[in-house]
Amino acid sequence: MKSIKRLLIANRGEIACRIMRSCRLLGIESVAVFSDADREAKHVRLADRAVHIGASAATASYLNAEVIVNAALNIKVDAIHPGYGFLSESTELIRRCEENDITFVGPSLESIVQMGSKINAKSIAIDLGIATVPGYNGDSQAVPELLAEADNVGFPLLIKASAGGGGKGMRIVMDKEGFEAALTQAKQEALNAFGDDKVLLEKYIVRSRHIEVQVVGDSQGNVCHLFDRECSIQRNYQKVIEEAPAGHLSQETRQGLFDCAVKLAQHLNYQGAGTVEFIVDADTQDYYFLEMNTRLQVEHPTTEMVTGLDLVVLQIQIAQGESLPFEQSDVTIEGHAIEARVNAEDPSNNYLPEIGSINLYREPQVAGLRVDSGVAQGSSITPFYDSMVAKVIACGDARGVAAQKLVQGLGDFAIAGVNTNREFLMSLLSRPAFHQELTTQYIENAFPDGWQPWGEDVHAAIAAVVLATEQEEKSTGDFSGTPWQSLSHWRLTADAGVPAVTQLYLQEDDSTLTIKLVGGKGRYRVTLMKEQETSEFSIQLNLKRGEGSSQAEVEVSGSRGVLDIVIDDAKVYLSSSKLNRSYPFISLEEDLLKEASADADSSNVIVAQMPGLITDVLISEGDIVQQGDNALAIESMKLINSVVAPCSGTVSKVFCEAGDNVESGTLLVEIEPLVEIEPSV
Ligand code: ADP
Repeated sequence: MKSIKRLLIANRGEIACRIMRSCRLLGIESVAVFSDADREAKHVRLADRAVHIGASAATASYLNAEVIVNAALNIKVDAIHPGYGFLSESTELIRRCEENDITFVGPSLESIVQMGSKINAKSIAIDLGIATVPGYNGDSQAVPELLAEADNVGFPLLIKASAGGGGKGMRIVMDKEGFEAALTQAKQEALNAFGDDKVLLEKYIVRSRHIEVQVVGDSQGNVCHLFDRECSIQRNYQKVIEEAPAGHLSQETRQGLFDCAVKLAQHLNYQGAGTVEFIVDADTQDYYFLEMNTRLQVEHPTTEMVTGLDLVVLQIQIAQGESLPFEQSDVTIEGHAIEARVNAEDPSNNYLPEIGSINLYREPQVAGLRVDSGVAQGSSITPFYDSMVAKVIACGDARGVAAQKLVQGLGDFAIAGVNTNREFLMSLLSRPAFHQELTTQYIENAFPDGWQPWGEDVHAAIAAVVLATEQEEKSTGDFSGTPWQSLSHWRLTADAGVPAVTQLYLQEDDSTLTIKLVGGKGRYRVTLMKEQETSEFSIQLNLKRGEGSSQAEVEVSGSRGVLDIVIDDAKVYLSSSKLNRSYPFISLEEDLLKEASADADSSNVIVAQMPGLITDVLISEGDIVQQGDNALAIESMKLINSVVAPCSGTVSKVFCEAGDNVESGTLLVEIEPLVEIEPSV
């Protein structure tokens, strides 16, 4: 047995912090490493000791096996845990560890070499009788041969870098004509990223799912699977949301995946934690081996939450030479866990990574929620490393419960200073399609034109729905002859069996927004009208009452969010980490009176404030009118509104007559104001 007392974590961010937690559980002293950019980083502060290893660029620090092993020797550690990414699958780091008698917390060099090349891994799987995606997996890389092979495979096909990872060096090719150009790009990208431009070709499975199996093996040859995860929600071949176990999967398929994964791990005499990835055809549930990742995965917490196991503790125990503390039949799962990766990026701007300082950071406190993060208040997001700042993982008895908890957790997660994808993740999890079978095209299907956060107009529409729902509840659902109808701030027409139509007016700085709502019971079709512009939304709202303030769970055209709300008479306050606004609704009378009084000094004209039908003209040219006299009636959205004379005087021009349809802004009446004659003294 090689007892580990001091362990160096050759990584940064959330995974470094995560590994430290398990070290603490095992009474192991943790040693962090850090680059120039990470001097003040959370992982440095959490570690028992920390060593500076170089400049900010990863190649000068976290990717430099030599400086890391030197640091390990200087500080006399027993072992190195590489985390994921960086040097986690580096044969150089393992070699250096072996030469210096340092335990590498991970599988053997041989396992890493065998699975490190996709071509090699696929050949081994084929020899073991494990299904792989049909394609070309040969050594020859001559362009004419690859072209001929591509023809055999058929289109669409996928070109993949053999040394690939993180979706790099991957290209979909739709037809023969596009093949050579895509091949050149894929090879170039692979060479830049991995120093190896070998590629393989695979049939592109259009409606596919990504399902993987967690395995663990010890030095005595015991191998167990720790069930499955689904990571189909991806963007650019990179996982965004992961869960354990996969939903909507037949027991037969699931068992087939477990058997293949265990067979491969046994063949490799696998030691440590690893993941066998499969692609599953969503239509047939046929499955094919993709690759094996010989390290801890980003999404490992989902497996931990449903199995109750600590994978890092297991990795360390295995590295110490201990045997697995369980047999396959002892491992069971309970509940469902879903993880969302919170990145510093702008999803509304092509997911552009954000850099800056986190000046507000408060993690959500929700039972059954785990947050693995690598940042704290004051942390800097620099351009040197990836943009993931935290993972939020929710667990519940059922998939729907976990999803709901995760949405709540993401909603309560306060991060300011840099933009994050928090709201984007919430909308992904809140779509009805999330509860059906997933495919890797989920994000594309959900937001074909890209994702956009709710803007000003959406919030105004939500505020209107909040007010309407509140009033509806007060009226206990019976609209006729209730306070609902007599309220001065808004109107309603509700014929039997016909959806109620409500019209509200929102006072903005210098104009009035007209909001029409059709529906009831928290489901509305909302039309916003401002001068000539109209926008429409369908909004569902669930009001959750609390003391003083309430919460509104809102869905706007498929995208969901949670807002804190306060209703004060006809004023609605909406609040979230991004928004703090009040929406003062006014009655039409208030609006018009305001207009009239505002115009009294300066204006002698009547202008249509909204599009409508002139139903009555009560004045004629030459009439003498007093300010406030009824002049016209306009029907707009089934409501008759009176329009009054803005000043006293003689009507000089009437530009409209009953039956006219007028646009907002149309000049209707002109009045010659009464000139006050100064009494002579
Ligand atoms: P990497 O090692 O770069 O992550 P993988 O081989 O693991 O590459 O594939 C990444 C993702 O690409 C998969 O999760 C899946 O969404 C997609 N993918 C891979 N192979 C195929 C295929 N043959 N057909 C359709 N999609 C695929």
